[in-house]
Amino acid sequence: MASHDGSGTHLRFAKFPKQAAKECFKVANACFCTRQRHRAFACIPKQMHSSRRHQNSNRKKEIMDTAKAALKRLRDGNRRFVADVRNPDNASSHARRSEIAAGQEPFAIILGCSDSRVPAELVFDQGLGDLFVIRVAGNIVAPSQVGSVEFAADRYRTKLVVVLGHSQCGAILATLDELKRPSENQSRNLKSIVDRIRPSIETLMETELKHDHDALVHQSVRANIRASVNHLRHGSEILENLIQNEGLLVVGAEYSLETGEVEFFDGLPADIQD
Ligand SMILES: [Zn+2]
Repeated sequence: MASHDGSGTHLRFAKFPKQAAKECFKVANACFCTRQRHRAFACIPKQMHSSRRHQNSNRKKEIMDTAKAALKRLRDGNRRFVADVRNPDNASSHARRSEIAAGQEPFAIILGCSDSRVPAELVFDQGLGDLFVIRVAGNIVAPSQVGSVEFAADRYRTKLVVVLGHSQCGAILATLDELKRPSENQSRNLKSIVDRIRPSIETLMETELKHDHDALVHQSVRANIRASVNHLRHGSEILENLIQNEGLLVVGAEYSLETGEVEFFDGLPADIQD
């Protein structure tokens, strides 16, 4: 028969006789075995319960700190980009290339638009091996984008995902045009992008924003970013699990073509404000 070793090690009992339960209670000095003696269970002393809780909360804090540190690196990098002061350590040197040839450890995953004016590594002033970047027109989320994020978050333990949209996004403008004047000859492939953006914008088109083109475009860009963030947060069991249990943080941000600034506006932790 299994007995308690007093050290808090997991012990499993297929059937727990009353006497053993008493022994266990005595040794463990506060475990709850006596109430569950007819089932398999783990018998853990009270001190160990609280110590594990402490360890778990420490681990959660560490993970959260990792995501926040990643966010800080991106924001600091964008500030350098805006100030036109680059970090020389981020250069794509031969030494850096050799260093990461055997493996990568990107600290953030960026799902951004394909627009030639918004290359993630440049606007965040990062170098080789720093960012795992997925780019697609309109920063939409289709299965292959979800799969790419799942892959990187799971394989490299990256704790931060940023959906990076931008002002005056051509995919948003094309969708607005399509909603105002539906075309019959649109390519099926292009239509698949427009159709993913359309639901975020349709409701805005029914508000007073329809009379203010600039405001409508701005709000449409943001609504589309939020939709992609939500899709990543809730459209994948793997990502949901990583968010719940591994501290994965998914945030939304908008890059301004005019100023070069990135504004993080969706999902920022409460103690970090943009
Ligand atoms: Zn774009």
